[in-house]
Amino acid sequence: MQSRIADAARAAGRNVDSVTLLAVSKGQSSAAIDSAASAGIEHFGENFLQESLPKITALSGRELTWHFIGKLQANKTRQVAENFAWVHGVDRLKIAERLSAQRPYHAPPLNVCLQLHVGGEASKGGVEATEMAALARAVAALPNIKLRGLMSMPPAETDVARQRQWFHETRQVFDYLNENGLRLDTLSMGTSSDFEAAIAEGATIVRVGTAIFGPRRQ
Ligand SMILES: *Cc1c(COP(=O)(O)O)cnc(C)c1O
Repeated sequence: MQSRIADAARAAGRNVDSVTLLAVSKGQSSAAIDSAASAGIEHFGENFLQESLPKITALSGRELTWHFIGKLQANKTRQVAENFAWVHGVDRLKIAERLSAQRPYHAPPLNVCLQLHVGGEASKGGVEATEMAALARAVAALPNIKLRGLMSMPPAETDVARQRQWFHETRQVFDYLNENGLRLDTLSMGTSSDFEAAIAEGATIVRVGTAIFGPRRQ
């Protein structure tokens, strides 16, 4: 996986170090995560709070960085603020305000990516491009949050040109925000089926599950 990411970065004329692999470990056991960590992976992504907490506890002896990438309800924000270093997919100010208020005082600011709605599917979360600047400014002003960038989860496409189109759209909104005073450094986009297209369009974090671990067990 690391070599496919490196190849995609080189093909895009980018530095290999500019892309971070986030291993999506939902549905995988602590033992599987432990093996991946032994192979050099540091960042892990989980979607479901109740599933993730025992794994985070079991692996607390490892220096791992945990990212919450699932749909986040208001009644779950405290445990996310206490147990994760990153949250991808925030799309409401209320959720960001709760995460900021509930972040433990001794912890560094919580890294947050805002989810952009691309592709028009009603089932996918995220805010529309026209609303992103206002949300980004409000979230960037919260005390215990570090707004890092955008994430997107486009429709599944087999055609690479179409895959790239959604990632390109995400990149354009990211560039617009940076041209308008925000300081974002993270574009979280691309999964097992389309991470190469995402890297070609500037992804700095790719969220890859099944291509690393195989099929999910839970
Ligand atoms: C499950 C998931 C992924 C990983 O998907 P794979 O197809 O297993 O690579 C990435 N991002 C999000 C938000 C997910 O829910």
